[in-house]
Amino acid sequence: MVDLVLRSRRAVTPDGERPAAVSVRGGRIVAVGAYEASVDAAEVVDLGELALLPGLVDTHVHVNEPGRTEWEGFATATRAAAAGGVTAIVDMPLNSLPPTVTADALVVKKDAAAGKIHVDVGFWGGAIPGNAADLPALHAAGVYGFKAFLADSGVPEFPPLDAGQLAEAFAAVPALFVVHAEDADHLHAAVPSSAYADFLASRPPHAEHAAVATAIEAARAAGARLHILHLSAAGALPLIAAARADGVRVTAETCPHYLTLDAAEIPAGATEFKCCPPIRDAANRDELWSALAEGLITCVVSDHSPCTPDLKRRDTGDFAAAWGGIASVQLGLPVVWTAARARGHSLADVVAWMAHRPADLVGLEGKGRIAVGADADLVAFDPDATFVVDPARLHHRNPVTPYAGKTLTGVVRTTWLRGRAVTGDAPQGRFLIREVS
Ligand SMILES: [Zn+2]
Repeated sequence: MVDLVLRSRRAVTPDGERPAAVSVRGGRIVAVGAYEASVDAAEVVDLGELALLPGLVDTHVHVNEPGRTEWEGFATATRAAAAGGVTAIVDMPLNSLPPTVTADALVVKKDAAAGKIHVDVGFWGGAIPGNAADLPALHAAGVYGFKAFLADSGVPEFPPLDAGQLAEAFAAVPALFVVHAEDADHLHAAVPSSAYADFLASRPPHAEHAAVATAIEAARAAGARLHILHLSAAGALPLIAAARADGVRVTAETCPHYLTLDAAEIPAGATEFKCCPPIRDAANRDELWSALAEGLITCVVSDHSPCTPDLKRRDTGDFAAAWGGIASVQLGLPVVWTAARARGHSLADVVAWMAHRPADLVGLEGKGRIAVGADADLVAFDPDATFVVDPARLHHRNPVTPYAGKTLTGVVRTTWLRGRAVTGDAPQGRFLIREVS
C-alpha cells in the first residue's frame, strides 16, 4: 500500500518522457512503473496528458529576509516558487540583514525562515573582504558554498573581492564558489537616462569576460570548484570552454531573462527590465541557447531578485537610479518552456536545465528527478495551455515583472512537496543542509 500514485502519459524521467505511474510512500518515490500498472494506493491521481515533472530546483533566489523583508520574504518567495513548480530554492547570502557571512548569521536567517517555508530551502554563504576565517565554520554549518562579487553588489554590507581576496577565500575552505562575474574596472557609471541603451553601455560584455577570466585563473591556481552565476555575455563562453578543457572545475548558469528578452525591445523607462549583468542583444541570446544545447551552460535559474516598487523608480524611469533585479521565481518555467519549445527543445531538456542539473550543482541527489528514492517533489504541468501574465496573480511580495502582459505557454496545475500538494495553507518546507562528509 502506497500513499499516492500519480499517473501521467508524459512523465519526464531521467530516461526521457514516457507514460508512467509514480508511486509515493512516506514522501519519497518508491516506484516508477507502467502507466497502467495496478497499484494499491490511498490516493490515485490520473493526470492523463498533463506532464509530470520533477519539482524544479532554483539555486539562485534572493529572499532578503530578515532585514529587507519588504523586498521579499520567505513566506511569499516560497509560495511563489511552489506556484511556479519550484520545490527547492537555495537562498543567496546578500540583501538580507545580516548577510549570511558567518555561522551566526546563518542561524539568524534560519530563525527568520522557520515555520514560513512552502518549499524546501537551502542557503549559500557569502565571501566578503575579511571573512575568510569565518568560511570553514559557515561551510560546516551546512551552506552549499559561497557567493562572491568582483564588482559592487549594490548593497554596502556585501562588498566585492579583488583577485587576491578571491584566492584567499578559495584557500580558506574546499567549497563550491559561485561568482557574480562583472569586473569593476570595466564598468562605467551609468548616466541618468530612461534609455535602456545607456544603461547597457555602462556594463559592456568585456566586464563579464574580464571577471570570468579572473575567477577562472584564481580557480585554476587553487584547484577550486567555480560556478559562474547568471552569465549574460556569450563572449565569455569560450573562456569557460577552454578552462574546462584544461581541467579547471568551472560551470556556468544563465537565467530566463537572458534567454528570452532582447535589449532592442526594452521600452524607454521600463526599469523592470534592469538587472546586472544586463540583458543584451538577440545575437548574444542565440549564443546562450547554443551553449545550453551543447551543455556548456548547465543550468537555468531565476536570479529572483525583487525590491519594493519605489526602488525600481518607475516614476522617473531612470535606469541608473533603479534597483537592478528581476523577480521571476514563479514564471521561470513557462518563460523558458515557451522559448525552448519554439527552438525545438523538449520538456526533458528544460527539466535537465532547471531541475536535475541545479540539484547536482549543490549535491542534492534526492531532488530534481523522478527516480526511486528521490523526494516526491512533483509538478503537474500543462505544456500546451497558454496564459497571459497578470502581475496580480503572482505570489511575489512585490509583483513587478518584465513579463506582464506576455502570453506564455505552460501552466503549473499542482505542485507536490514530498507527496503533499502545496496549497499555501500549512507550510511544509524543510531546511536543506549540505551533507558534511
Ligand atoms: Zn543574484
